[in-house]
Amino acid sequence: MDNMKKRGKIMIIGAGGVATVAAHKCAQVSHIFKEILVASRTLSKCKAIKEEIKKRYNREIHIAQVDADNVQQLTTLINSFQPDLVLNLALPYQDLHIMDACLATGVHYMDTANYEPPDEAHFEYGWQWAYHERFKEKGIMAILGCGFDPGVTNVFTAYAQKHLFDGIHYLDILDCNAGSHGHPFATNFNPEINIREVTQVVRHWKEGKWIETPPIIEEGSVHFTFDYPVAGRKESYLLYHEELESLALNIKGLKRARFWMTFSDNYLTHLKVLKNVGMTRIDEVEYEGHKIVPIRFLKALLPEPTSLGTKYTGKTVIGNIMTGVKDGKTITRYIYNVCDHEEAFKETGTQAIAYTTGVPAMIGAMMVLTGVWQGKGVYNMEQLDPDRFMEALNQYGLPWQIIDHEPIPDKV
Ligand code: NDP
Repeated sequence: MDNMKKRGKIMIIGAGGVATVAAHKCAQVSHIFKEILVASRTLSKCKAIKEEIKKRYNREIHIAQVDADNVQQLTTLINSFQPDLVLNLALPYQDLHIMDACLATGVHYMDTANYEPPDEAHFEYGWQWAYHERFKEKGIMAILGCGFDPGVTNVFTAYAQKHLFDGIHYLDILDCNAGSHGHPFATNFNPEINIREVTQVVRHWKEGKWIETPPIIEEGSVHFTFDYPVAGRKESYLLYHEELESLALNIKGLKRARFWMTFSDNYLTHLKVLKNVGMTRIDEVEYEGHKIVPIRFLKALLPEPTSLGTKYTGKTVIGNIMTGVKDGKTITRYIYNVCDHEEAFKETGTQAIAYTTGVPAMIGAMMVLTGVWQGKGVYNMEQLDPDRFMEALNQYGLPWQIIDHEPIPDKV
C-alpha cells in the first residue's frame, strides 16, 4: 500500500457524464490522484474532458481511445499506464471485460453499475460475484456499485448498522429528482440503461423472499406521496434497484428492503407511449434493409445526459429511512443528501445525477489508493468500513444529514 500511496495513478474508462465528474473531482484532489488517464471509445469526448480540466485546474491528464469490450486492448493499455485502480464508468455491458483485463494485469477494479447482458434486460450481481475467488487469488480488489444508488445508499446502511442501530429491520431507499431540465422528455443518465431499468417488473425484499409488483408504467404499480426534505411532496414509485440484492444478503436481520424513485406524470406518459409503440425494444428489428435496435435509435434521438446541465434547476434528495432497534427501543432514522443541479454544473459542467454518481466514485477510488479500503476479492460497498467514506462525502461535495423520522408503513 505504501507503494500505492506514492504512485496515485487512476485509469477512468468512459467519457460520459459520470466519468466527466469523476475526472474533475480526481483532478481537484491532486495529492492523491497524481496521474489520471481517461480512456473511452470516442477520443474527442476524452479530449473535451482534458481541455476542461486544463482550463479549470491547470492540470494535464492523459487520454486514450479504447474499446472496453476488447480485453486485449484494455490489457495493453493498463500495462502501459500501470494504474493502481481501473474505474469503470462506461456501461454495465463492459463490466466483465474490464474485470477480465484487471485480472490479467493484477490491478484493482471499481464500477458504479452491475453487469447487464446487452441482449437481456436483466441485471444481477451473480455474474460479478463469480469473480470473487479469482480476484482473491490474484490479491486484488473489485468494488462494485460505487455511485450514489448503488453506492452511497449502501454506505449509509453500513454506517447506520455500525453507529445508529443494534439491528436494522426495515430499509426504504428514496431517490427524488426534483429538478427540471426544460426538455419534454430526457433521461438523466445513459438513456438505454435508464429505460431498461425503469420498465422492468418491480421487486422488493420481504421476510426472506422477493415480492414482485407491476412495472412503474403499468396498472397496479405501487406508489405513494412522500414529503421530501427541501423538495416537498412527490409521487414515489416502488422500483427494483440493484443494491437491494446485496443489502438483503449482507445486512443481517433485515426484514424488508424497498427502493422508491420519483417520476412525474409527464415522464411516465412519455415512457408508456414509447413502450407501447415498441421504441423501448432491445431486440433487433428490420428497417429499410438495416437491422436496428429501437432503444438504441431512441437514445440517438434523446438529449445527451451530459448536455442537460446547462438548463437544469432544482435539487436531488436521496437517502435511506431505516427502522430498527437501539438499546431495546425501536427507532427510525433518515440519512440523506441534497444536491443542487446548478451548483453541480458550475463546479463540473454536468447535472446533479452525474455529480452524485461521479463524486462517490472518486471517493471510493481515494479509499483504495490511500489504503483505507483493502481486501482481496469482490466486494459490495456495505462490506467495507463506512467511516472515512462518510467523512469524505461531507468534504467533497455531498454532505449528509441524519434526522428522526416516521417509519414508512408496509402498505403505503
Ligand atoms: P454515458 O452514456 O454518458 O457514458 C458512457 C461512456 O462509456 C461513454 O463515453 C461511452 O462512449 C463509453 N463507452 C460505452 N461503451 C464503450 C466501450 N465499449 N468502450 C469504451 N467506452 C465505452 O453514461 P453515464 O455517464 O450516464 O453513466 C455511466 C455509468 O454510470 C453507467 O454504467 C450507469 O449505469 C452508471 N450510473 C450509476 C449510478 C449510480 O448511482 N450508481 C447513477 C447513474 C449512472 P461513447 O461516448 O463513444 O458513447
